[in-house]
Amino acid sequence: MRKFWLGSGWKMHKTISESLSYAKYIKNYTINNKPSLSLFIVPPFTSLYVVSKTLQGTSILVGAQNMHWEDSGPYTGEISPLMIKDCGAEIVELGHSERRTLFGETDLMVNKKVLSALRNGIRPLICVGDTFTEKNISKAESFVENQLKIALQNVPKEYGSLIMIAYEPSWAIGIDGTAANPDYVNHMLSFIKDTLHKIFDDQVAELIPTLYGGSVNLQNASRYAEKPNIDGLFVGRASLEVKNFIEIIKSVESILV
Ligand code: PEP
Repeated sequence: MRKFWLGSGWKMHKTISESLSYAKYIKNYTINNKPSLSLFIVPPFTSLYVVSKTLQGTSILVGAQNMHWEDSGPYTGEISPLMIKDCGAEIVELGHSERRTLFGETDLMVNKKVLSALRNGIRPLICVGDTFTEKNISKAESFVENQLKIALQNVPKEYGSLIMIAYEPSWAIGIDGTAANPDYVNHMLSFIKDTLHKIFDDQVAELIPTLYGGSVNLQNASRYAEKPNIDGLFVGRASLEVKNFIEIIKSVESILV
């Protein structure tokens, strides 16, 4: 069976006790059902430690939703790579479209964060994606290519195996989003894979999983999983309820076996 990633991103949702009950529930599920997918959960900073602690010893990886690129310093309100690692994060989500549009995160900032995550042994889950405007003027590919080239600037190739990419067009994300057509995603991820082959050598590029995120739910998850260039899914809203996330796990597994 091919390796397939399935992640749950919580954004600004869940208190510590809500996070804890989610983590306990999914831990029990994985103990009893041994899912064949590579699962990961990305809670808010405040729940990172309890979720990591609860999931210790399971195969579920835990990630942070952001970090600063410096290890420490006068950056009020920021969280460093050392801090998220200390809380048990093995992945860090970087460059999400909400970070870019609502908090002014630029490609160069994403690049600094990517380099810092890799230096600290944390897997960067780099989010790239076009907006509605770029898609409509047929600029999605060149836009994403540019995002990738800048995000991966100066990354030594020996770090290649840690990198993960999520294609998350902003028009597909959130309550107002429209889930992208699976064939379209397959095409975009093929384009992203080609771009990675140009940035790194073939050996490194082949190690980098390319995921899709944007209005994935129980009804459409397996349709994405069928596509050969989709190495995983990153789910927001539809994964906030643990039982629903487990149903998505099952539906993807049924396609992959
Ligand atoms: C996201 O914002 O990363 C995401 C995948 O959100 P949703 O699934 O809720 O569209």
